[in-house]
Amino acid sequence: MRIRPLGLSDSFSRSGRGFPSFLFANQNGHAMIDVPPDFMERLFALGLNPLDISELYITHFHDDHVGGLRRFLEFRYIAQKNQERFTFGGYLRLGQELKHLDICCPSDGSVQFLQLLGWVARENRFDTTIHVIDFNSQIGMLSPALGDIKVFAQPSKHSVSCVGYKLNDQVVISGDTAYDEGYIKWLSDVRLIFCEFGFAGPHMKVEDIQKISLDVRRKMRMYHVPDPVYENWDNLDLGVALAKLRWYEEGKDF
Ligand SMILES: [Zn+2]
Ligand SMILES: [Zn+2]
Repeated sequence: MRIRPLGLSDSFSRSGRGFPSFLFANQNGHAMIDVPPDFMERLFALGLNPLDISELYITHFHDDHVGGLRRFLEFRYIAQKNQERFTFGGYLRLGQELKHLDICCPSDGSVQFLQLLGWVARENRFDTTIHVIDFNSQIGMLSPALGDIKVFAQPSKHSVSCVGYKLNDQVVISGDTAYDEGYIKWLSDVRLIFCEFGFAGPHMKVEDIQKISLDVRRKMRMYHVPDPVYENWDNLDLGVALAKLRWYEEGKDF
């Protein structure tokens, strides 16, 4: 399994470092975690497009995580209607079938969520199935993802229903989350942790991260990072603490 972070910043990004989203892949195909407003450019840069993605995992319904979902589905719908042109245009390789799309997400009972569900179900024209995570089982409903990757979803503490995902007991994408000891325990037991980070609100803050053991912190790569971290890097009072955190290298597979 390969995993590629697609963006490092949070919802107020002005840096061009991208919104929070991840791509993971194996020999069977590609899956994405979250589909932010800028996902299309990120995929194109890798020579991919929404037709290459067969599974989508949503952490929660905030714009920086699902702002591109409608565009994602529309792209697939138009491709379905114009397969010949999309093949000619290079989006579909010759002989490539349009893949069915599975979306796995928590339900937050919001209007946005219900509208999306209704839109996909009513029209049933996107060749898409939505799997709502059963919080009792706490297990990703598409397990095994892409044929052989085990996915587990765990509710996190955020302002709407939000989950983090664990892939093959190896990698965790924390999703947005406030500090919570039980959650940290859940995500500690892997080799690599992509952990969200923020300065305010229900997010992991510097002082929270300092509470986490060094062993776990060494496995963490921070994402969802507010831009001012970069702008004021050298001037922040918390600079020393931040310097101990590790951002991932952009444009790299893990
Ligand atoms: Zn959020
Ligand atoms: Zn967010």
